[in-house]
Amino acid sequence: MERTLSLLTPSGRLTLGNLLGALRPMVAAQRDADCFYGIADLHAMTTPHDPGRLRTLVRETATLMLAAGLGDATVFTQSQVPAHAQLAYLLECTATTGELNRMIQFKEKGRGVDSTRASLYTYPALMAADILLYRPHRVPVGADQRQHVELTRDLALRFNRLYGPVFTVPELTLPAAGARVMRLDDPTRKMGKSDADAAGVVLLLDPPDVVRRKVGRAVTDSDTGPDAVRAAPGKPGVTNLLEVLAACGGSAEGLTTYGALKRAVTDAVVAVLEPLQERYAELADDPAHVTTVLEAGAARCREVTGPVLVAAQAAMGL
Ligand code: ATP
Ligand code: MG
Repeated sequence: MERTLSLLTPSGRLTLGNLLGALRPMVAAQRDADCFYGIADLHAMTTPHDPGRLRTLVRETATLMLAAGLGDATVFTQSQVPAHAQLAYLLECTATTGELNRMIQFKEKGRGVDSTRASLYTYPALMAADILLYRPHRVPVGADQRQHVELTRDLALRFNRLYGPVFTVPELTLPAAGARVMRLDDPTRKMGKSDADAAGVVLLLDPPDVVRRKVGRAVTDSDTGPDAVRAAPGKPGVTNLLEVLAACGGSAEGLTTYGALKRAVTDAVVAVLEPLQERYAELADDPAHVTTVLEAGAARCREVTGPVLVAAQAAMGL
């Protein structure tokens, strides 16, 4: 069976965008691949962070992943598998500063700022380690991570050439098509968990009345014609609501007003979130079970990654 790997950074509370764009395709992938799904807690430390909040977010993210149906995969926390940080160092000894300087994410988020954490700069080496340790054939990544996976391929090729054939060079693939959800208060911006406090970001643990309020305040437009409820390039807010409605199993048939559209979206989103939240509540009531799943996941990861780390160390002369 092919192996696939996906990591979620606990940089905020999970949103409807994460469910439709990431968790759902991850659930589907369990059918035909041996899936490793990690919570990238180390990556959540590249910008100023609060230890207590990080701990809470890791727990909430893990519980939501299981509630969403990822129980057939190997679910783990990155920091519980020491090989990630260990191989990252060996790959820092493989990458060059020229390469790291060219990373768009670093240029945008921290370059030239004295208080930028060094880990934001070396982050691509850790991400390369995350991937190469599992020898996956394919890495499904969205556009924002493509450059990092290209670097991962370059590092694997260079390492293999300099020290011997240790790593599988993974193919880049597009992630299974999932919806791209935009913010309800600003449909030109993606709904992201870093903006979890924004009025237009629906959280997976939002209760129905909060969902209703957020959807009710969604930006639409001033078009009130008989066919106002339709997707069109000049109607980003309405288009987004229609896409969310469809992705949540609702139908726009017969809807003629924005009020009716918002009610339909609310009902569809609540219908998707309710069973997820029920399952979440059950799991949250049984923290020992979640801990056991994470420990078993990390144990399997240590087994799988150990030999790869040892081979890399030996090849480098350690
Ligand atoms: P951040 O704001 O910290 O970047 P994020 O919500 O964008 O958080 P990521 O950690 O960047 O989340 O990505 C996790 C996964 O969720 C990725 O697979 C990404 O494609 C997906 N994802 C994130 N936001 C959306 C969205 N609005 N619509 C669809 N998929 C999304
Ligand atoms: Mg993002």
